[in-house]
Amino acid sequence: MTETSEIVIAGAGPVGAVCALALKQGGLNPLVLEARAIDVPVNDKRTLALSYGSRLILERLGVWAHLTEATPITRIHISHKGGLGRAALSAVEEGVPALGYVLAYGQLHNALEAALKEAGVKIRYGTPVEAISPGTEAAKIKTGGEYPEEFAAGLAVVADGGRGGSAGQPVFSRDYHQVAVVAGVATELPHQGLAYERFTPDGPVALLPNGKGFSLVWVNPPEKAEHIMSLDDSDFLAALREHFGGRQGRFISTGPRARFSLKLDYRGVRAGERVVRIGNASQTLHPVAGQGFNLGLRDAWELAQSCLETPHELLGSSQQLQKYAASRRKDALPGIGFTDVLVKSFSTSNFLLHHLRGAGLMALQTFPPARHFVAKRMLFGRHG
Ligand SMILES: Cc1cc2nc3c(=O)[nH]c(=O)nc-3n(C[C@H](O)[C@H](O)[C@H](O)COP(=O)(O)OP(=O)(O)OC[C@H]3O[C@@H](n4cnc5c(N)ncnc54)[C@H](O)[C@@H]3O)c2cc1C
Repeated sequence: MTETSEIVIAGAGPVGAVCALALKQGGLNPLVLEARAIDVPVNDKRTLALSYGSRLILERLGVWAHLTEATPITRIHISHKGGLGRAALSAVEEGVPALGYVLAYGQLHNALEAALKEAGVKIRYGTPVEAISPGTEAAKIKTGGEYPEEFAAGLAVVADGGRGGSAGQPVFSRDYHQVAVVAGVATELPHQGLAYERFTPDGPVALLPNGKGFSLVWVNPPEKAEHIMSLDDSDFLAALREHFGGRQGRFISTGPRARFSLKLDYRGVRAGERVVRIGNASQTLHPVAGQGFNLGLRDAWELAQSCLETPHELLGSSQQLQKYAASRRKDALPGIGFTDVLVKSFSTSNFLLHHLRGAGLMALQTFPPARHFVAKRMLFGRHG
């Protein structure tokens, strides 16, 4: 038998969860289908740098107050290896309490899961969505797993991180041939809210203040990343010191490492009649500029607002989704372009580009309007 629901969301990752929560708090009744079984803990080693704009959304949802572990970033130091030119962004200069906040994917996930439960959002765990078919009156959703089911929805929202089959093929894809190695590290000197983004020909390396230590995102070509993963802790810390330099003193200790292959996949928001994609299902980005989740969060928030403003009989209609998609393109495409240019122009040893990079960083440091532009975009996305 087919179960009918006004809105079905495939995926209860952070983006799907924010969308479901915003819809529920606004008076709608979404059904969330999540592939992970309820008793399987989330073991994702990613650390997220949330923008100030994301904090404002999480505050409005009542989730921010529970994210007490989030570490504020008050300054960002940007440099490139082997060259002159560096830039510094600061929260004081931008007139905000922090440029962003760092927290573990798992911490955000747990806070959102608790909020969904408290709000009474209907979630089916252990229910992987296998296929979504668009339709004029309703989208059809088929689930797999032990007990396959069928659902009909006025609006089907794909929020599976691009991991399930239902997100469809990307319209644009780029394999960066880079792998991010992530780990928690402790340094000799305290971070005092300072984040580092250092560009090297192999790929960027970021140190994000997190708790008492840093979260490291160290990007390399696949073979080098493989080698880094195989090192014992003391060789790993020595290699990191060699690569990053001594600004934070010695690297003292490290936690478990994990790796992520990096690519750009752009599918876009529209996925057929009555079907829409949000978050990584719509766009998967290189983490260099820390844009992916922040963009996904804005997808989720704007979709919920669009649903709440749309008359009930037009919920999920082409009219609603076209307007929503046009608005999201204006936010997503510049963010995707910025990230892509950053990866390509900074991950090269080309002599000319090397000097252009240095000049770019110097210009950023010298001209406050350029600095404000970059900072505002990081803080608020398009609305910056
Ligand atoms: C190394 C690294 C560092 C990053 N750092 C940052 C950062 O600093 N700042 C930032 O903004 N972004 C960052 N990102 C990007 C960020 O992690 C993603 O944009 C974000 O997690 C996307 O959330 P999501 O909910 O769309 O997808 P996901 O987090 O992938 O969640 C998808 C959910 O859908 C479920 N699911 C999967 N398949 C199915 C199915 N078939 N049916 C039902 N459910 C399904 C999954 O179990 C999961 O719960 C980083 C990414 C990487 C790899």
